[in-house]
This record gives sequence, C-alpha cells and structure tokens, in this order.
Amino acid sequence: MKQSTPKPDRREYTLMIVPHHGKAVFSIRIPIKTVKYTAIALGVCLTIISGTMLNYRYQANVATKDKYELNQLREVNYTQQGQLEELAKTTAELQQNMKRLNQLDSDLRRIVNNEDTTDTSRSAPPRLPNFNGQGGPTVQPKTTELLNLVKELKAAANEREESLLNLKQSLAEKQERMAATPSIWPSGGEVTSRFGWRNSPWGGGGDWHPGIDIANDTGTPIYATADGTVASSSWFGGYGNMVEINHGNGIVSIYGHNSQNLVSAGQTVKKGQLIAYMGSTGYSTGPHVHYEIRVNGTAVNPASFL
Ligand SMILES: [Zn+2]
Repeated sequence: MKQSTPKPDRREYTLMIVPHHGKAVFSIRIPIKTVKYTAIALGVCLTIISGTMLNYRYQANVATKDKYELNQLREVNYTQQGQLEELAKTTAELQQNMKRLNQLDSDLRRIVNNEDTTDTSRSAPPRLPNFNGQGGPTVQPKTTELLNLVKELKAAANEREESLLNLKQSLAEKQERMAATPSIWPSGGEVTSRFGWRNSPWGGGGDWHPGIDIANDTGTPIYATADGTVASSSWFGGYGNMVEINHGNGIVSIYGHNSQNLVSAGQTVKKGQLIAYMGSTGYSTGPHVHYEIRVNGTAVNPASFL
C-alpha cells in the first residue's frame, strides 16, 4: 500500500492503491472533512473505551477492597460474638456464686441463731436471662444487658459483703461474751458443799452457802473460769487467800481458801489460766476451793454456769 499526493488538493486526500501482480493502479479520494470527522470519532471512541476501562478497574478495586473489609468485619464480629457469649457464661457463673453466698449467709445465721445479727441484704441477686439457651432457643447476649447485670451483681456482692461483715462482728462479740462468761470448773475434785442453805460445817444449824466447795489435795491447780481482769488477789477474812476476777457485764468470780495466789490485781487472765493452788486458808475444814459467782453483786448458783 502506498499513499501519494500527485495533485494535492486542500479539501481531500488522495489514496493511491498499487495492487500486486501488475494490476492497474487506482486511487481513492477521501474528503479532508471525512478524515477529520473520522479522527475525531476515533478519538472520542478511544476516550470512551479507556474511560470505561479505567472506571471498570476502579470499580473492581473498590469491590475487592469492600469485600476484604467486609470479611475482616465479619471476622471481628464473629470474635466479638464469641467473647460476648463467654462473658455471658462468666456472668451466669457469678450469679450462681452469689446464690451460694446468699445461702451460706442465711445458713450461718440459722446455725448461730443470733437475733442480734441483722441481715442488711435480703435481696436476691439479679436474674440473668438464659443466654446459653438451655431448655429454649439460644438468646444472643446484648452488651448493654450484660453490662447492667454485671453492675447489679457488683452491687449485690457489696451488699452481701456488708451483711457478712455484720455477721462476723456479731459473732466476734458473741464469742467475746462467751469467753467472758464462766463456763468451766475451776478445779478437779469432789463437790463437798452446794450452793444455798446447808448444815453448817461448824455446827449450830444451817447457814447460807453463797458458792460451791470443791475438795481435792492441797496444791491442786485452780483455773480462771472465764476471761477477765483480776479485781483483787489477797487475804480476805474467812475466805483466806482469795482471788476475785471481774468478767465484765456485772459478772465476778471468787476463788477462796487458796494455799497460794499466782496472779495480782489488775492483771488480765484468760479462761482456763492457772491462777492459784488449792489450800485450806481462812475458815476451812480441809483443802478445797470455795467457788463463788456474783452477778451485779448478788451470789448466784455457780452450777447454772457449768
Ligand atoms: Zn464454800
């Protein structure tokens, strides 16, 4: 193919076609306008095609990116759903723990049967929806719902702690009262004289015996029958060597006729602590301990404390 312009015309191109095999040469005249419009049309077509291709590539990229992000979101969502279910389970366990604590609290109160202990929290722990779907359709836990339940459980735990602290304090006070209440024998031996009216060991009819006498060998240990403070430890008339212990709440215990006192006034003693040795000092017919309890100054029967 050859292109030549033997007679250039300003309004048209002449296209000379020289075929092979010696056939006649011929020429085609194309108006310049046609060439121009064709070029413009080609240009427009090219622009449209490349624009479409670019747009297609852009859209394809966007779609790929969207798909990737969607997958990532799905993964995150799946993970979060799993964590949420785990949290729901933990919350349900916490609720069970709280139920057991409540039960323990009321059991303890029943055992000690202490009217002084006031349960500051009788309220039941918050109810948790059945997230794991036992016996029903599975319910997906909601974050806000879970957060509220956790808050309520926290409040319930605080209430229970307060209640148990109150119980602990009451028990400690009760224990202290029990420790300060005479409840054991002051010594081993035989009761030779009971509380109340008796025949006087010195003859001359009956007399009022304000305690009990426990006889044993001289030197038999004598113990404090409750926690307290030694009010006096000295010779006291017919009681001979006497120890007097103040237990508080108006209760006093007295141990008379000792061969030897081992404590001194002002000293604090514990229940079961050795305080004296048995003897027969003062008005006594033989080695024994005269054990006396006074409540608000009045002698009471020590047997009611044993
Ligand atoms: Zn006596």
